[in-house]
Amino acid sequence: MKVRKRLFVKGIVQGVGFRPFVYRLASQFALGGYVLNDTRGVEIAIEGELAQVNAFTHELLHNPPPLARITGVEEEYLAPRQEGEFAIRESRARASRSALVSPDMATCDDCLRELFDPEDHRHRYPFINCTNCGPRYTIITDIPYDRPQTTMRKFTMCAACQREYDDPTDRRFHAQPNACWQCGPGLALLDERGKPIIGVDPINFTVKMLKEGKVAALKGLGGFHLAVDATNETAVAQLRKRKLRIGKPFAIMANDLERVREFCEVSADEEAVLRSPERPIVLLRKCELSPLVPSIAPGNGYLGVMLPYTPIHHLILREGNFSALVMTSGNVSEEPIARTNYEAREKLAGIADCFLLHDRDIYLRNDDSVVRASSTGEAVIRRSRGYAPRPVFISNPKSISVLAVGPELKNTICLTRGDNAFLSQHVGDLQGLETYRFFLKTIAQMTKLLEVTPEAIACDEHPDYLSSRYAREQSRLPVIAVQHHHAHVVSVLAERGRTGPVIGVVLDGTGFGEDGAIWGGEFLIADLEGYQRVGHLAYVRQPGGDRAAQEPWRMAVAYLYAAFGDECTEKARWFFDRLPEPQQRLILEMLHTGAASPYTSSMGRLFDGVSALLGLCLTNTFEAEAPMALEAIIDEEEQVSYPVEIRPDDNGMLLAHPGSIVKNVVRNIETGLAPSRISARFHNTIAHLIVQMCVRLRQKTGIESVALSGGVFQNNFLARLVPELLAGANFEVLEHTLVPANDGGVALGQAAVALARLAANKKR
Ligand code: ZN
Ligand code: ZN
Ligand code: FE
Repeated sequence: MKVRKRLFVKGIVQGVGFRPFVYRLASQFALGGYVLNDTRGVEIAIEGELAQVNAFTHELLHNPPPLARITGVEEEYLAPRQEGEFAIRESRARASRSALVSPDMATCDDCLRELFDPEDHRHRYPFINCTNCGPRYTIITDIPYDRPQTTMRKFTMCAACQREYDDPTDRRFHAQPNACWQCGPGLALLDERGKPIIGVDPINFTVKMLKEGKVAALKGLGGFHLAVDATNETAVAQLRKRKLRIGKPFAIMANDLERVREFCEVSADEEAVLRSPERPIVLLRKCELSPLVPSIAPGNGYLGVMLPYTPIHHLILREGNFSALVMTSGNVSEEPIARTNYEAREKLAGIADCFLLHDRDIYLRNDDSVVRASSTGEAVIRRSRGYAPRPVFISNPKSISVLAVGPELKNTICLTRGDNAFLSQHVGDLQGLETYRFFLKTIAQMTKLLEVTPEAIACDEHPDYLSSRYAREQSRLPVIAVQHHHAHVVSVLAERGRTGPVIGVVLDGTGFGEDGAIWGGEFLIADLEGYQRVGHLAYVRQPGGDRAAQEPWRMAVAYLYAAFGDECTEKARWFFDRLPEPQQRLILEMLHTGAASPYTSSMGRLFDGVSALLGLCLTNTFEAEAPMALEAIIDEEEQVSYPVEIRPDDNGMLLAHPGSIVKNVVRNIETGLAPSRISARFHNTIAHLIVQMCVRLRQKTGIESVALSGGVFQNNFLARLVPELLAGANFEVLEHTLVPANDGGVALGQAAVALARLAANKKR
């Protein structure tokens, strides 16, 4: 029986080779009809035998091109028109305007084969790409997504490239960055003083420098990397010294999985993420015996590993036959990564011994993404290259557009358009002027690419965050301030398509509390619109405010003081002996009077304090160093946990008291229990504390769903144990999978809260 069917496909279906794919598929099943790009997606009509039409539809939905993301399909049957031929038709007006922009994707297998094929005319061409791979988001300057609106505009395609570009059956049909040796971008090499090095093969020369233990600055997709040979101790040490990066782990890049297995354990899930076209950095457990130098990630059980994702990476790693290269962001300490050739020369002078540059400009900066395997598949720690600007699908029945400007640290922004929430790439810590400029550019670029005019702007309740200030300066727009931990809970709800109410457990370092205290060990009953704080880690003083976050020893003193009062110096003599006399006295004085010492319920600070008590980290050289050191030594055999003291205060607020935990830690240190076992006991205790709190809150409210969020859930041990224990206690557990549990996901929560409040207002 002959039938005719029209399909309307929505999602990321333009600029990803969708039409040629449909064309090939229709030919394969001997179907007539057409395919065209429409403002909202791709329209397809097919005509032929019913079985073939069904087979076509199945293939279309189940095996789309690698970069496509189908989010919805409408199907309808029409009267057959005896159409035997299949055609790619002209796009309807403004075709790609509101279509979704694809993220940047790793070199595909077909391009890789050509790259290393001596017979291919793109053999060793460092910018080979096709519709299935290559740069996208980072080279677009404006929409519609067309070559003149990308940084490829200055290169005119040669006849051969143009032919591929125009041929609907070709893998490079409408591949905007299409190029070759003849017509496309090229590499350039500079020495350490920025003087051009000519007459050498740039790849060979870079390989030679790396082999000699030199530091190379490499231009990637979203910015520069600094690279050194990961098996060369002197080279890694040199890089640390020049970059002023003392202990923070470096990420590495290895040529293939076999190499990765020489230094890390890789599960099937992890393998899939490593090889995915998004190519994030994946946190993997280190092997006992590794050919890599230990100073890459000192005192850390995990290593951040990625596979090559640009032709330049493939050429260097394969031709240099490296075990692995350290690939760290090309920046000075906390600044954003260098993006332009000029920035690289300016900022990385004195760090890099050579610069491998090229003339395909990066328009928008985009850091490497970081993920780890989790019980739910994959947990994103930094959602950036390969992921942004792919949307998260949310419920937005009133189709309201809001801009959420995110928190101050690990900032990302979020824009909503219909049922899509577009979370930006990682912006970073806004206090730096460079990062703040990047924040402004990201807002401008995303509102332009998505053609969104926000009706409202959502921000953190913290009045002094630069993002909150920015929000208030946009005088035309109503501002919706969202409490930090409420935004965390709602970011889980939004990505899971839920509305609540849930018990929200948010454990992080810092968030502005409505009572003026620093919150961070929070138990909320929350839905999209609002929340009630029903429990928290009992307050202690945070001596010196933000300084205590950099100096964990201050928190150790604060917890000892909370546990033992004035006797603490006697009770933990061995700890105070480590501290210079004037410092001890100053902090004790501050705790006594409360001067410059706000109250905090931060779970992050409790981890800091315990890490310092164990002597693992008295002062942080990078963010979260103390808790990472504490996690790294866990003895997983240890089952004991300390008793937890949970009591309601006069207002019925459930308080978990850290005092008894700290007393037990101190007692175990004094009896000489191994730090690895104390660390395990502490972690077990926190997990049990969470479950006990949730059980009591369930008794009170009847709510059985728990949403987990906050940076503390990046702790691999807790991220595994807490959901397991909660599930064992018959809770439904909601965790992050698409957006980070840390502050990188907060903008999504802010946006979803704003949408819920605006929708409720419209109803009233
Ligand atoms: Zn390709
Ligand atoms: Zn060409
Ligand atoms: Fe947070």
